[in-house]
Amino acid sequence: MSTPKFRLALDPNSRVPPLRNLSHHAPSTLPPPKSLQSATPSSHNTATLTFIGTATTILEWSGLRVLTDPNFLHAGDHVHLGPGVTATRVTDPAVPLDKLPPVDVILLSHYHEDHFDRKVEEELHRDIPIVTTPHAHAHLAHKPDAESFTAVYPLDPFECGVIPILGGAGSNKPAIRVTAMPGKHVPPGPAHILDKVNDLLGAVPPTNGWMLELGHEYDAAWSCDYRIYISGDTLLVDELREIPERYKDQRIDLMLVHLGGTTIPGPNLPLLMVTMDAAQGIELMRLIHPEITIPIHYDDYDVFLSPLSDFKAAVTAAGLDEKVVYLDRGDAFGFEVKVGDALPGKRK
Ligand SMILES: [Zn+2]
Repeated sequence: MSTPKFRLALDPNSRVPPLRNLSHHAPSTLPPPKSLQSATPSSHNTATLTFIGTATTILEWSGLRVLTDPNFLHAGDHVHLGPGVTATRVTDPAVPLDKLPPVDVILLSHYHEDHFDRKVEEELHRDIPIVTTPHAHAHLAHKPDAESFTAVYPLDPFECGVIPILGGAGSNKPAIRVTAMPGKHVPPGPAHILDKVNDLLGAVPPTNGWMLELGHEYDAAWSCDYRIYISGDTLLVDELREIPERYKDQRIDLMLVHLGGTTIPGPNLPLLMVTMDAAQGIELMRLIHPEITIPIHYDDYDVFLSPLSDFKAAVTAAGLDEKVVYLDRGDAFGFEVKVGDALPGKRK
């Protein structure tokens, strides 16, 4: 376990507002989910993950609210993904941007408009902490005209940071540990193919996945109670094999997998697939072995050429139905974070 690169100091009682427009009044909570799914009786749920759309989710635990890859564009809106690469959103987010409650921290897997849209970049409060790639940090923390975000924390793969949560009794302090995971948007391939799509590669920024550990700090020790792996926009590349090696003997409770088989430059000229399709999603489940997998990032853009129905069929064919939970936009997944469940020697 590497030494944390940063520790945020957050106070859920005095959050910065989500948007910087002073006349905007944010609601204090998310709307109730359309439906709440759970692997345990719902009375045991201590955390929820709400699916907003694309790769946008909101994790709520111990009073903390974490937002991933904020994209609040609506159907018909366009994103520019690089030279000659645009995509059209075909869905609406479950919650519009102006109904977003305060968030404590944003995890941004990479700096791409379908994960951090232009309106979000324009309207978000500058002081919201953002954990992201060094590439995104270079953009967001160094904007001209005093537009920079003030709390951007870059992580390279396997570097980690700590998000402590105020409260907790005695030496038992709840916290989330976030560790960057490797990811690669660009397929390995013969040079002659890569040459042809060289221009497209400029459209593909470096990307992180995340390992989120919901746990407790006991004095100097760290105990993880629930572990969530978020793939980010990656293909099933060799770099991902290091994840199960590093987390050998440690349970991955939940995996959020970015699917969609995103293919650029567009649906009429599908040249280069840059996110996992159904078959790769199954392979990733076999590699990571999470208790539960939730597919996200699967049907929101016209460049997503691998529909969720493909993944569902592949899951059934692989005999993995019990390992997958499907969320619609606006649905939430509730789960139990058992304190001390993963104390050394107690739990794999
Ligand atoms: Zn994407």
